[in-house]
Amino acid sequence: MARYAIISDIHGNLQAFQAVLKHMAGQEVEELICLGDIVGYGPAPGCCVDLVCKYCSIVVKGNHDEAVVDPYTATQFNGVARKAIDWTAGVLGPLHMTALNQLGAIAHLSDEVMCIHDCPAPGPSDYVHDQAMASIALRGMDRPICLLGHTHVPIVFEAPTGEPDEPVQPHQIIAHIPRAGESIHLDPQKRYICNPGSVGQPRDADPRASYAVLDLDARSFTIERVKYDIAAVQLDTQEVGLPAILAERLAIGA
Ligand code: ZN
Repeated sequence: MARYAIISDIHGNLQAFQAVLKHMAGQEVEELICLGDIVGYGPAPGCCVDLVCKYCSIVVKGNHDEAVVDPYTATQFNGVARKAIDWTAGVLGPLHMTALNQLGAIAHLSDEVMCIHDCPAPGPSDYVHDQAMASIALRGMDRPICLLGHTHVPIVFEAPTGEPDEPVQPHQIIAHIPRAGESIHLDPQKRYICNPGSVGQPRDADPRASYAVLDLDARSFTIERVKYDIAAVQLDTQEVGLPAILAERLAIGA
């Protein structure tokens, strides 16, 4: 069996993460893979790091994870994101900071699957949100399937294999936007960029936590959406003194 739960962008939202863990218990997955941004924005970063360390077999570092442990990277964040980074760095203990610091940027699940937080092409951190960016991302892939997060929007880009000296053009790429429970078939003759969406701060106008199940035997990538207690996280966000917008946006999935 080669069945994996794929999570990304938990962002310190413990209630969403716990709801996802409970939901995936019925999915018969053998491993849990985390694509980074465990912390940042949400009020429970330490608990989320603990759960990721406990349950995930592969974890890659997100840009927020990096910013929390690296003051220079933090300077590249503005506004509420920077406030949340600074707050998070202030509340995490040395063990949590070490756990985040030790994460690598890229991991390989198999000969067929690579894992990264953002765009695999060389250069600064970037969002793979459309076919133009997917065509750039394909150039950085060293496996036919790339699992990534960062945009907080569940999506699958399907591309032809392409030739090394003939990059795939944006018009050759199909963007699938899966609904909850919908599976995208992974054709062995094609390449894929698969984004499971965000556990802790979805931005596709659906406030439910998002994750995916990758089944390499059935060759499917299935998006799952899970309801959780948003009001409780909003209250926690307010109580620790994080900016109000970080609580408000959870209710609208933005
Ligand atoms: Zn994120």
